[in-house]
Amino acid sequence: MAIYLDHAATSPLRPPVLEAMLPHLTANAGNPSSLHASGRRARKAIDEARETIAGLIGAQPREIVFTAGGTEADNLAVKGAAWAATPRGRHLITTAVEHKAIMNTTAILERANFGVTYLPVDRSGRVDPVDVAVALTERTTLVSVMAANNEVGTLQPIVAIGEIVRGHGAKLHVDAVQWAAHLPIDVNAWQADLVSLSAHKLGGPQGVGALYVRRGTQLLPQLQGGSQERQRRAGTENVAGIVGFAAAFELARAEAEAEADRFRELSSRLRAGLLALEGVSLTGHPEDRLPNNVSVVIDGVEGGDLVAALDLESVEVSTGSACTSGSTEPSHVLLAMGIDPHLAHGSLRITTGPETTSADVEAALAAIRAVLPRLRAVPGMHPKVAATA
Ligand code: PLP
Repeated sequence: MAIYLDHAATSPLRPPVLEAMLPHLTANAGNPSSLHASGRRARKAIDEARETIAGLIGAQPREIVFTAGGTEADNLAVKGAAWAATPRGRHLITTAVEHKAIMNTTAILERANFGVTYLPVDRSGRVDPVDVAVALTERTTLVSVMAANNEVGTLQPIVAIGEIVRGHGAKLHVDAVQWAAHLPIDVNAWQADLVSLSAHKLGGPQGVGALYVRRGTQLLPQLQGGSQERQRRAGTENVAGIVGFAAAFELARAEAEAEADRFRELSSRLRAGLLALEGVSLTGHPEDRLPNNVSVVIDGVEGGDLVAALDLESVEVSTGSACTSGSTEPSHVLLAMGIDPHLAHGSLRITTGPETTSADVEAALAAIRAVLPRLRAVPGMHPKVAATA
């Protein structure tokens, strides 16, 4: 078995979650829109899951819209809110470090004549709430800021941003996909109007997520079809997925507090082990960060080569975001943080999960220690050589 240290990419389905899902894929399967008993059973299962998820984030059940994952939730939030508000303006604000599910969505809106301000971040990846206040104009209708960064783990000052946005009257969207597994969410404390969630980042199944939509928030549906999800998201609901999402979220929240200390301990061992190596620097905020995320840049190696070499040693990690892996461009997040592009090529993200032990962490560090000199010996990859190439 490989040592899996890529929970920010996907956190494998927890066994009790699978157990909760199975009946809805087999004996209890039904279409929630059907009027017969099987349909009603499926509807009831969704209603209960909706209630659970709403309860975990301080929302009302009717404010939860199930989607096919975090990407769809982000698309629905940004496009849905932006298009619905066009009579009032066509200006959006987001940050330079968002996930591609936001970045590529705002890029499409720019092509449709929306103006988008991409807020800068500091060296730790944090947005300054003052920059949000400065960027807001009369025509701004939506501000979209992620709660926790998927690459470097930095947490954003959402409460302060929420205060500013509420005072202005624009809507606030928070991508909480990475945050939800580890830290509590209260949509009212955030003063958020829209919040994206994804099940597979917290031990649930892939391909299911949710968008919290505050009552009264105008949203133009992005899928046309039946009247599911109160006409906000057409399509037959992923019943088993939704049940699994609720079970996983409940489990993650129940364990989060106790787990946070364990994650911090594992992260601190990883950081110490990595910093003992030459040419390694930590990325992201030193304290305000996801407890299970360790991210670094390593001089003189290509992150993708390191990930491949570690894979051969049965250690599974990432260069940053799963979606950026395989691209030869350094991550937009690291560049926005002002990290030298040459150094940004050597990014490494290690994210632990419920099954990770200290022995796993030690084995991963040993593997990194073993492969690094080999990679650095590859001609053309020495920092000085690469810098002048
Ligand atoms: N937003 C963030 C911050 C993410 O990390 C991810 C997944 O990597 C997404 C959105 C997309 O979620 P999903 O994989 O469920 O589409």
